[in-house]
This record gives sequence, C-alpha cells and structure tokens, in this order.
Amino acid sequence: MRSSTAALRTALKAYRPALAPARLALTSLPRSTPHSPPLTLSTRRFASQALATPANEDDPVPADVLPRAEHAVISAFDLFSIGVGPSSSHTVGPMRAAKIFVEDLHRLGLLDRVAKLKIGLYGSLAATGKGHMTPEAIMMGLEGDDPETIETTTIHSRYHSILANKHLTLNGTHSISYSHDRDMLWTMDPLPAHPNGMRFSVFDKEGTLMATNEYFSVGGGFVVNEQTQVDENMYYRSIHKDEVDHARRDQTHGLPPDALLHVDTAAAAALPPVSVPGDEAAAVAAAATADAGGGTGSLPYLFRNAAGLIKLTQKHNLTIAQLVWENERSYLSDGDISRKLLDLWHVMDSSIHAGVSSTEPVLPGRLQVRRRAPHLYRRLFKGFYPSLIPPHPSSSSSPGSSLPPPSATQPLTLQHGLNHHAAPPPSPSGGGAPLVVGSFDHPLPPTPRTKGQFPAIDWLSCYAIAVNEVNASGGRVVTAPTNGASGVIPSVLKYLIEFMSDDPERDIKTFLLTSAAIGMLYKRGATISAAEGGCQAEVGVASSMAAGALVACMGGTPKQVCQAAEIAMEHSLGLTCDPIDGLVQVPCIERNSLGAVKAVTAAQLALAGEGIHSVSLDDAIEAMRVTARDMHSAYKETSLSGLATSVKIPVSSPAC
Ligand code: SF4
Repeated sequence: MRSSTAALRTALKAYRPALAPARLALTSLPRSTPHSPPLTLSTRRFASQALATPANEDDPVPADVLPRAEHAVISAFDLFSIGVGPSSSHTVGPMRAAKIFVEDLHRLGLLDRVAKLKIGLYGSLAATGKGHMTPEAIMMGLEGDDPETIETTTIHSRYHSILANKHLTLNGTHSISYSHDRDMLWTMDPLPAHPNGMRFSVFDKEGTLMATNEYFSVGGGFVVNEQTQVDENMYYRSIHKDEVDHARRDQTHGLPPDALLHVDTAAAAALPPVSVPGDEAAAVAAAATADAGGGTGSLPYLFRNAAGLIKLTQKHNLTIAQLVWENERSYLSDGDISRKLLDLWHVMDSSIHAGVSSTEPVLPGRLQVRRRAPHLYRRLFKGFYPSLIPPHPSSSSSPGSSLPPPSATQPLTLQHGLNHHAAPPPSPSGGGAPLVVGSFDHPLPPTPRTKGQFPAIDWLSCYAIAVNEVNASGGRVVTAPTNGASGVIPSVLKYLIEFMSDDPERDIKTFLLTSAAIGMLYKRGATISAAEGGCQAEVGVASSMAAGALVACMGGTPKQVCQAAEIAMEHSLGLTCDPIDGLVQVPCIERNSLGAVKAVTAAQLALAGEGIHSVSLDDAIEAMRVTARDMHSAYKETSLSGLATSVKIPVSSPAC
C-alpha cells in the first residue's frame, strides 16, 4: 500500500506541469497577508497564537480588537452547519472535499475526459476513516452530493451499489469504473500539513494524470486545500469558493482594499507562467477583478480573543450574541439571520426526536452498541401520568405507538411526569433484577437501590445521547462544532427551552450566537479538530460553548459567559480521543451527555460568581493549545491507544 502511494507521489511530481490550469485557478487566491507569512496549516495554527498577547487594561484601543488579518471572526453559519454523521472531520469534510474536486474538474472542462480516479487517505483519515464512514462520504461527494442536502437513508445502499457494480458517477453525470480495493489507498503516515489529509487524482484513458489536489479536513467540516493552505478558516461549505467574498475567505475583512490588492498581486506574481485555456482564464480574470475591488465584507466587530470580545461588548454596550448578530448583518439580512438560526435549531431538535423515537435496537458497526435514548426517554415519561408514557419501540407497529412529531410542529414538551419512583427494569427471565447485591449479615450492610433521581441530569443525558446515536448511525445532525460533539449544544439548549425559558425564540438565537462566538475563539486560538487536539477539542469545546451560551440566556454578563466557558474547558483539558474500533460510539456518545452536564455545572458556578476568576478563557484556550500540541498522536483520533486498545472487541463479532 505504501509503495503504491510512493509511486503515485513520484508520478504526481513528474506531472506537476500538466496540473498548472487547476493549480492556477486555485492559487489565484491570496497565499498570505502582510501579517501572516505562508506556513503549513499546523504551523500557522499554532504560530498565530503568538499574536494573542493579553490585553492591556489601560490601552484605549486594545490590541485584541484591532482589525488584523488574524482575527477570530467567522460566520456563525460557518461554525454550525447541517451535516451528516458520524464525523465532521472524517465524514462531512471529506464529502465536501470530494464534491469540490469534481466540481473543479467540471469547471475546468476536464470531467468528461476522466477515465480513472485514485483516492489517497492519510493519517487519521486512514486510521479511523473506515469506522467514521469516510469512504462512504467520499463516494457521495464524488457523485456530487452535499452533506447538508443528501438523503441520509440512501448513503448505505448507494455506497454498496458502487462497490458491487464497480462504477462511480462523477458529479452525477460522468460514469467511470472504480475498484475500491485498487483505487482507494490508505496511508497511516500523515501528510506534512495536517493529520487529516486526502489526495484525489484523475487520469485519462491513456493513463495520463490530468489533475490532482490535496485537501485537509481541519475539523468541524472545514476543508482547506493544498494550494490555499494558509487559511484554515477558508470555508467551502454551502457556497462554492468562487462565490465566497474574498475577504471572508481570507479573514482579511478590516484590512484596507489596497492591502488586499497588494496581497493578490504578490500572489499572482509568484505563480508560474502557464497558458490557460478560455474557461480558466475567464475564471482567473473574474477572481482578480473581484479581488481588486477588495470584496464587500467589512465586519464591524473584530476580535481575536476573549479579552477583546469582552472589551467590545463593554465599549459598544452589546451582548455577545448581539455583537455576533451585527457581524452577520454584513452578509445577511435580519430575516435571513433569524431564519437560519431557527433552521439550525429545528435540525437539532429533529435529531433529538429521531434519537428518542428510533426503533432500531442497536447502532451500526460490530460493537453492536445498544441504543439507549428511546429507553431513557420512556423512563422520563414514567411517573405521574402513565398514559403519557411513549410505547416501547418493539410495539411500534401497533396503532398510536409513534412518538409525537418533531417540536417544530408539536414540541416534545411534557407537563412533566418525572421519574421519582422508577422501578428497576425486569430481567429477561421475568424474575426482576436483583434489588440488592451483598450480605446484610455484615458490619457494613449493602445499600438498597435508592429511588432518588436527578431529573435534570437525566434529561440532559437523554437529549445528548439521542443526538449522538443519530450521528453514530449516519443520520442528520448539526455540526456543533463537530459531529462527534454534536449532542452537547442541542441537549443544553433543549433543556433550556423546555424547562427554563420564557421566550424560546430569543433564547435559541442568543444561545447559538453566543456559543458561536466562543467556538470562534477556540478555532483561532487552538483547534476544534480531534486529530489535532483529542476530544478536548470536540466535546471539551462543545461543553465550553454550551456553558457560556447558557449563562447568556440566564442573564449573565459577558464576563460570566466567558468564565463559564473557561470552567467547562478547564475541566476538559487533556481529554483524549480513543474511539473503540474507530466508531464514533464508545466513549463518544456518553461523553456528550457528560459534556452537557458539565456545561450546566460550569454555568451555575459562573453565575454564582462575579466574573472574577484566576483563570481566564484565553488562558484555558492557550492551555488547550499546548496540551493539544504535546498530546501523543495515539490519542488524536487514531484509535491506537486508550480505550480503543484496552477494550478487546469480541472476535466472534461480525466485521463491519
Ligand atoms: S472520543 Fe471525542 S473526539 Fe474522539 S471521536 Fe469520540 S467524540 Fe470525537
């Protein structure tokens, strides 16, 4: 496998000149800014932190909020996106990358000449891609599908049809032969730029390499390609890169237009001279024209770290959510911002509903993990109003057995028969589970099972587990900020609006925008990729985002918001990523419920204080960054240590 990859690499080098048109179109984007020399992804990510000096309290214009290229601001709708499970970096990102590649081939007029395709998966994508459904995602992307719109229930059958028929329809129009064993290459060594690397290469019928590109899935569904690699926040989600405002791609909004022009001119001058056929020339010219205009994106509130964010809220008398809303106004109308936020919530809520109403007993994969959300949900319904208890999934065919529809039309609100007196479940033998284990004839007698419950924790766990079971089965979830951690934010928000809120619409918007601001800080200051930082970068970040957002919805100050976010991260530092069998199931699903509970605890602690604390959110983000840097790669989404190796999978389990 490695030798064939090495051979391909050699072939790619030899054919570099032939790739010039595709490279030119992509490298027409700026490579660097005056503040940021071109570095590899991982180097730049960590190097950028050197700019994050603490704010000087006496400085009238804090350095943190100066409009520099290295600010943290991206769109909330870049950070949250509607995707497909089970992984943002291993499923959503690769699907997007594959779609980008075939669309570029189409745009360059190369697609119809493609006879053969090679796909290289590197590093973490090779190590855990199989369990994370990376091959399925790439096949769907190559066929032109997008994570937001693909019909998730068809992925499995379509994938197996491609494998069985040995045919792939690129971009939905051009059919080629494809042999999975021959054409997908797995290399455990990562590419130099990032642990999650992919390389796509296409050949004509004579076997000549026509085009190739490398893409890096940097977490949260964000995709960066080889040529434009300096910009980790460059975003290729629902908008094609050619349609994204130049300034937004490069996070240079705030820089004067002449600076943008200068950057572009320098980048263009660095390109090798090539002859460009008509289509590409037009594309390049269009890009150059758009760039020369400096783009339209001028954001009013740029911040680089939490200190700067807090100062902006104080200076302009805005909440964090209001500040993010004002930034979104640069691209969207108020109506669109509102609609998109509520759409995100609708998908989150629908994934909770899908999880608690599932009739599938186990999750996909050879671990045969039992779904728990339906049982947890039924248990929570028990108690005061037995007639409201949802039926057992096994009786789903009986009339009236389905759960209520998603909350967009009919909320899953309970008038709540909470389970203060739940009986233990009956044993399979029908004799009932033993209530006490241990001898009463002992100086220290055993404790009979208590009937006490913690209802809030039960609800939070149920909601989080529901979402993550949907994610683990390849269903529709919101990447928040990643798929592996997609249960934390919906869980806390659901609890807030079901049990606490007097204005759900206001709270949904406040929650999502506040949590987005916190997520931006992590994305710039550290990472939201488990392949770079372990689970602290996924569930840890999600818990931090949810904690701060909950405080905002409970009337806390921006300082308290940041304190809650800090507390949640402080106690997530060092959390490793070691999914058993490479599946986003164990420990991932339970970890989300604990992340949600931790978020609520952190919010309560922050609200009990004055926002004065010895560890700032910026300190915690920096601690996470260095912990991520120093963490052994075996704990970064490779399944090479931790639970992934200490838990032995029964050999009798069927292979997935
Ligand atoms: S352990 Fe955490 S980071 Fe790793 S796959 Fe599971 S949820 Fe994601």
